[in-house]
Amino acid sequence: MPWLKTLRWSLGITTSLLLLGVLWPIRCYHYEAPRPFSGKRWYNPFDQDSLTWSRANFHIHSRTWGGLTEGENPPSVIDSAYRSLGFTYYGITDYHRVNPASPIPLYEHGWGLRKFHQLVFAPKTILWWDFPWPFTQDIYQSILAHLYETAPLIAIAHPFFNPYQTCPGDVLRHLSGYHAIEVLNRYGDSISEWDSALSAGHYATLLANDNVHDVHNPHQITTRWTEILLPPQASQDQLLQALLQGKTVGYKNIYAVPIEEGDYPVFRHIRVVDDSLSVLISEKVDSIRVIGQGGQVRAIATGTDHLRYPIREEDRYLRVEFYTPRVVAYSSALCRGEGPVRRLPPPENSALTWLWRLALLSGIALLLRFIVRR
Ligand SMILES: [Zn+2]
Repeated sequence: MPWLKTLRWSLGITTSLLLLGVLWPIRCYHYEAPRPFSGKRWYNPFDQDSLTWSRANFHIHSRTWGGLTEGENPPSVIDSAYRSLGFTYYGITDYHRVNPASPIPLYEHGWGLRKFHQLVFAPKTILWWDFPWPFTQDIYQSILAHLYETAPLIAIAHPFFNPYQTCPGDVLRHLSGYHAIEVLNRYGDSISEWDSALSAGHYATLLANDNVHDVHNPHQITTRWTEILLPPQASQDQLLQALLQGKTVGYKNIYAVPIEEGDYPVFRHIRVVDDSLSVLISEKVDSIRVIGQGGQVRAIATGTDHLRYPIREEDRYLRVEFYTPRVVAYSSALCRGEGPVRRLPPPENSALTWLWRLALLSGIALLLRFIVRR
């Protein structure tokens, strides 16, 4: 029966092309050993006489793709909701699509079941490739390496996404080719994953986002947000630079009640003076904590608006948290060295990549034979 033969061939070719599309982009890499921050000097993203903060959020889903992806509101409703709460900068992160109404062009990458997602800022092109499941370190790194070529700023979204890690800390220690981590997200906070990356010497700017799907839901909007050390009316380029430099503080709202701008304390200064870290907050808070290498607590002060911590020889990076009954705030990190140095994606292990491709092609050839001949 000739129609059966045609059917078998079309099925075989479609399956082969699908497998090739998903599996071919996987590469193998030579990973560098973790290299904690080092040097006599300290890089401090908050090294300014006075700190001016602007409120920001970079993870918002609008109604798109015909309602296929979760997202209730059109851009105009999103705009008025965030403007009325005092947000200066925000971006709409539809999946695999830059929303033309988004003030900052970005999208959320990732359709795989693992939910290893990235927020891709100012992309030149949209990367459609992702991997369904299961993940190896090379698959994580391949996704970042492919994305790295398409945009100036890549943030790994929600490494912890309740109830599991989309990107575990022991994998993050080895990955490179990204610039920021979405440490705070309504679906899960990733403090320990972030500390793993920082401890391994990967400077990752902190981002905090509410990941809103419906701005009218008080359990969603302003549950997390970012304050950027940047005046309002900065250009898109200045915004990207500030993010790359780590000029951010993330907030977590304790209650499911939207919180307005100005209704929470802010950092007045974070300085390194005479080998000490000096922190001042706009009002007295319950506690201030300094965190260092390995996520260890280095200092705590309670019932105060300031703290001074004599920096120790073994400190590689330092970050500050403060706690109030209403919010918890996390600063991006200060680190040893000349700047927020980030590593390029690791060099490819071409021999292994080609070995993998050979195995893949043989596997597909066998499968095709099986489908056509049976
Ligand atoms: Zn996501």
